[in-house]
Amino acid sequence: MTQNRNESPSYQLYDRALESLVGGVNSPVRADPQPTPAFVDYGDGGDIVDVDGDRYRDYIMGYGPLLLGHDLPDPVREAISETVADGPMYGIPTEIEVELAEFVIEHVESVERLRFVNSGTEATAAAIRLARGYTGRDKIVVMQGGYHGGHESVLVEGNLGDRGPSSAGIPETFAEETIPVPFNDDEALQEVFDRHGPDIAAVVTEPLLGNCGIVLPVEGYHETIRELCDEYGSLFILDEVITGFRVGGLQCAQGKYGIEPDLTTFAKIIGGGFPVGAIGGRAELMQEFTPMGDVFESGTFNGHPVTMAAGLETLRFAKDHDVYSHVNDLGKQLRAGLQDIVEEHAPEYTVAGTDSMFKLLFTREAPETFDGHCQAGCVQDPDCPRFDLCPKTGADVEAGETDRWKRTFWPAMADRGVLLTPNQLESQFVSYAHTEDDIDRTLDAYQDVLSTRDR
Ligand code: PMP
Repeated sequence: MTQNRNESPSYQLYDRALESLVGGVNSPVRADPQPTPAFVDYGDGGDIVDVDGDRYRDYIMGYGPLLLGHDLPDPVREAISETVADGPMYGIPTEIEVELAEFVIEHVESVERLRFVNSGTEATAAAIRLARGYTGRDKIVVMQGGYHGGHESVLVEGNLGDRGPSSAGIPETFAEETIPVPFNDDEALQEVFDRHGPDIAAVVTEPLLGNCGIVLPVEGYHETIRELCDEYGSLFILDEVITGFRVGGLQCAQGKYGIEPDLTTFAKIIGGGFPVGAIGGRAELMQEFTPMGDVFESGTFNGHPVTMAAGLETLRFAKDHDVYSHVNDLGKQLRAGLQDIVEEHAPEYTVAGTDSMFKLLFTREAPETFDGHCQAGCVQDPDCPRFDLCPKTGADVEAGETDRWKRTFWPAMADRGVLLTPNQLESQFVSYAHTEDDIDRTLDAYQDVLSTRDR
């Protein structure tokens, strides 16, 4: 990092931005790390270079959309340019949105119809409205530590007995209808259904918690959700905004874990780096959306041709070039190497992740004895000797030393040219542009930081 931050171009830009943008940024997480977040100059493969001239191996990857890294391959770039050249958008149907829908339907078993929107937030808001319209019920169940975007129905914290909005400006009545439960906890879910079953429109969950460390599902948890939803006539909404077309490859996390949702929300990767969201599910449910049904959903930019072209060519490229083998192998290499380092230098920490997602969690007590090597990235298996030590809920992750992450660990990694998410709770991603050499050098940085005073 540039030595004198006060004179750096990032400092100057941030100072200027504070006079025109709220908090100097357009999304709150970008204000970190304080006192001066770096401003990007350009992306280059698996790296980004900031306006101070510092180069970092980038594992933020746009918070998930950039499966292929920063340099779009020629076919993706060409499809985008050709679509833009015809005119940016029309508000009238185009073939490309049909093609992307067909691609998703071909690969994701639970999806028969789609509606494209412009963000993950819009997708979950519309899916929840659809579930409420279809069932005629108001209550939804969400996971503590889960994230579904920034709208009123999901910005709720607490538990069955005591809950409220997690943001100012949201009426208490929204929290009455949204019930958070701990992830992976069958009994808590059963209790909510015992109490409110006939009023529950939907259970909304990510396949794994991807915004609260990374918390993998314990085997059988999604089946419990499915069974309770079937028993009470509620819908199961699976939020694959992060995991869609990343975890489990083209079949998504629902294919990998055998989850059978009624509705799925997508975003991030299906837009190839452009603003996108989508709701998918069985035709019989999806036709409740306008213009076929009575659940209103509409958007000027829905199915934006440039986004559709970027998303479709990204997914086609991923399919044709074995992108998932590459990113998943690198993810495995990174998690296994990190696990070795952690066992030697920081046994109280947990290596979390799967496929191309990874995170080091500053959690739990050190195991007194541990016989065997952790298969970091496994499905949580009760027979694993480490099972009890793996975080199961959002609260397990939040109880960790999240402060240490920001205070010492993140800057020490950045000093060594590795860009992690500044927030301990957000996931990190390996991209197609990363190489084995990148992973080795990243592991050197972890080794250096975890074995020295920076820890
Ligand atoms: N759902 C999940 C699982 C997410 O991770 C996110 C964003 N990280 C959202 C919904 C909201 O998506 P967006 O930021 O595109 O509105």
